Amino acid sequence: MTLVDAQRTHLWKPLLHEVAAGSFDPAEHALEYMVHATRHGIDFRLGTMERIDRSQHQVWLAPVIDREGNEILARRSVAYDTLVLAVGSVANDFGVPGVAEHCWFLDTLHEAKRFQRRLLDALLRFAGRAVTDPTAELRVAIVGGGATGVELAAQLHRVSRVLAQYGLEALQPERRIRISVLESGPRILPGLPPRMSASVTRELERIGISVRRAARDWRRCRCPAVG
Ligand SMILES: Cc1cc2nc3c(=O)[nH]c(=O)nc-3n(C[C@H](O)[C@H](O)[C@H](O)COP(=O)(O)OP(=O)(O)OC[C@H]3O[C@@H](n4cnc5c(N)ncnc54)[C@H](O)[C@@H]3O)c2cc1C
Repeated sequence: MTLVDAQRTHLWKPLLHEVAAGSFDPAEHALEYMVHATRHGIDFRLGTMERIDRSQHQVWLAPVIDREGNEILARRSVAYDTLVLAVGSVANDFGVPGVAEHCWFLDTLHEAKRFQRRLLDALLRFAGRAVTDPTAELRVAIVGGGATGVELAAQLHRVSRVLAQYGLEALQPERRIRISVLESGPRILPGLPPRMSASVTRELERIGISVRRAARDWRRCRCPAVG
């Protein structure tokens, strides 16, 4: 049995919002595919599948390139008798104009780390501005009130408070950082029973997170940091 993956390590995707908020170190918890494969008696091939040759029963992997642009592994093929495709999925932007260009997505570890870096930069920048502008606010809008959106909102709320204790007092998160969850349906967490949606909504609002339901036309919401 041969396992092919474009990444060297696996991180359980439901942890990505914690990576994005900076409250989880992926290096400590990611699973090394080479170790995993050796322990379970399977072969691991690092590479991005770029083509399937059904007539020859071969999967072609793109060259693996390092950060400096040097080739580590050349283009290769892996033979198969039975092929299982389990390449996962990515967020749907539903064709809403501007989303693909301006929103930050949370589909991969790379995106989660980039989110974390940009978040920290945004908070540092804002803390600098807040010193001279007492009316400044930082607004974060999260599109989607499913488990990821709700958990991310709670994590961002927590992280902004932690940072305020570590020298960024100017953040004054309870007054100046506005987090909104925009949900197109009538309630957040639509996969859970209504009473749970109601209690989570109450809890989010209690800690100052705004929950906007039926926010189908969220392009017009006054939240410039959507995504
Ligand atoms: C932020 C977030 C939170 C979530 N929270 C939950 C939760 O709480 N509970 C829950 O049940 N589900 C949750 N999910 C959904 C869950 O993570 C997915 O349903 C699950 O990861 C799907 O598993 P998969 O193996 O099909 O795909 P993935 O986990 O996406 O794995 C696909 C793999 O294919 C590799 N790959 C993709 N394209 C190629 C290619 N061309 N060549 C080689 N390799 C490739 C990728 O590197 C990846 O390792 C969450 C998802 C996200 C994004």
